Amino acid sequence: METIVSLFYEAYITAASLFHWRRRNARFIVLLGGPGAGKGTLAATLAAKFGIPHLNMGSILRREITEQTDIGREWGPAIKAGKLIPDAVIHKLLRRELAKRAYDNGAVLDGIPRTADQAKRLRRMLASLGNRVEVAIELDVDRPDLLERLALRRTCTKSDCGRSYHLKFLPPRVENTCDICGSPLMQRDDERPESIITRMEEFARTFAPLRAFYVRIGLLKVVRSTNAMGPEKVFDEVLFALDEHDCDCD
Ligand code: AMP
Repeated sequence: METIVSLFYEAYITAASLFHWRRRNARFIVLLGGPGAGKGTLAATLAAKFGIPHLNMGSILRREITEQTDIGREWGPAIKAGKLIPDAVIHKLLRRELAKRAYDNGAVLDGIPRTADQAKRLRRMLASLGNRVEVAIELDVDRPDLLERLALRRTCTKSDCGRSYHLKFLPPRVENTCDICGSPLMQRDDERPESIITRMEEFARTFAPLRAFYVRIGLLKVVRSTNAMGPEKVFDEVLFALDEHDCDCD
């Protein structure tokens, strides 16, 4: 049965890629890990290296809040409190986002998927565009390290920049100022202690089935990351894992 489903899936992607020929070389890399695991920093570095965009669902949602859209007005308080937004809302935003020409060459996906249901939906959406997730990289970070990272994290106030910094491990060149766009930095509402606890609980509730999904379809690679390593070392480990995954697939 598994074999028939997977043959059907491959045939579907091949057929869809005839219609979406512009996207035939697209690479989609998924980053998984708890709040503060460093997905955003890693995604920005990988995106620059591979020349593909960084798709961050948290930034898309924060833009909805700033622009006071229906979604932003309805879900803004839950986001600030650190709660996950229902899958149906995320699926709608994701479908709209992935259809953009900006993703013709793929993307590094950060903060999406966060549930097994989102992962399945992402797989289907990409297949309908003739694409697939190449690999899901899990950043495995211990809880005390995560808490230290989140407490000292600062984020650019300009919503379409959204670059994040860490006062100890990745400080901005000029105090309280974004290196990229020069806007002031802030501590996000959902990075205050009460919201951090909620985000950790949401992660603990949803991560196991999400991870199991990527294990089952053979796409999960785990990279250990500690605060002592620093972002460059983590990046090297991730490149190594990507190479290893390419070899596994050959
Ligand atoms: P992030 O910037 O990735 O830490 O996301 C900030 C907040 O946006 C999260 O705490 C959730 O409230 C919401 N959010 C972002 N991505 C998702 C997602 N894939 N599913 C549900 N909620 C999300």
